[in-house]
Amino acid sequence: MDIVKTGRFIAEVRKERGLTQRELADALCISDKTVSKWETGRGLPEVSLMLPLCGALGISVNDLLTGERVTPSDYQKKAEENMMDLIQENAENRKRMALSVICGAITVIAVCALTVIAACLPMPAAARVALIVFAMAVAAAGIGAAAVLEVRAGHYECPHCGALFVPAMGDYVRGYHTLTKRRLRCPHCGKTGMCRHRITR
Ligand SMILES: [Zn+2]
Repeated sequence: MDIVKTGRFIAEVRKERGLTQRELADALCISDKTVSKWETGRGLPEVSLMLPLCGALGISVNDLLTGERVTPSDYQKKAEENMMDLIQENAENRKRMALSVICGAITVIAVCALTVIAACLPMPAAARVALIVFAMAVAAAGIGAAAVLEVRAGHYECPHCGALFVPAMGDYVRGYHTLTKRRLRCPHCGKTGMCRHRITR
C-alpha cells in the first residue's frame, strides 16, 4: 500500500468527476483540510470514511487502497494484498506497543530491586557504588528500549494539519508528553503541538 499513490489517485478521480476538494469534503461531512491531507499522501482515510469516499468517487475500496483502477483479472490478488497490508501493519504496531509497556515495567522492577539491595544489604562501599551505577545503566537502557519500541508503533497526528508522521528519535525524547500525546513539531506544516499517538490507522 502506497499512501502517496492513493492520494494522487483520489485527486485524479475527484477532478475527473469535476468536484472541488470543498465539494468532496461537504459530501462526506469532513473538512477540506482532510481531503487535502489524503491527496498529498499525508494520511489514509479513516476506515469508516472509506466506503462513503469510494461511493462519492465511484471507485471500489480496492481501487482506493491500490491507488489505481484495478482490472477484474487482478481484483482478487490486489484485494488480498491490501487486506494483508492493513492487518499486518496494525498487528505489528500493537505488538511493539505491548513490548514497550512490558520493557518499561521490567525496567522499573529491576531498578527498584537493585536500589533496595544496594541500600539494605551489608556490603563494601565500592560494591554499593558499583550496584547503583549498574542500576542507573539498567534504567537508561530500559527506558531507551521502551522509547524506541513506542516511537515505531504507529504514528503521531498533527493537531494543526492532521498529518500522520513518525517523529525523529531526538525530537521524541525531548518532547514533553502525557500518556497519549506528545509535544512534537509536525514535519508537514512545521507547527509544534500536542500530537496524539495513533497505533492503528
Ligand atoms: Zn502539521
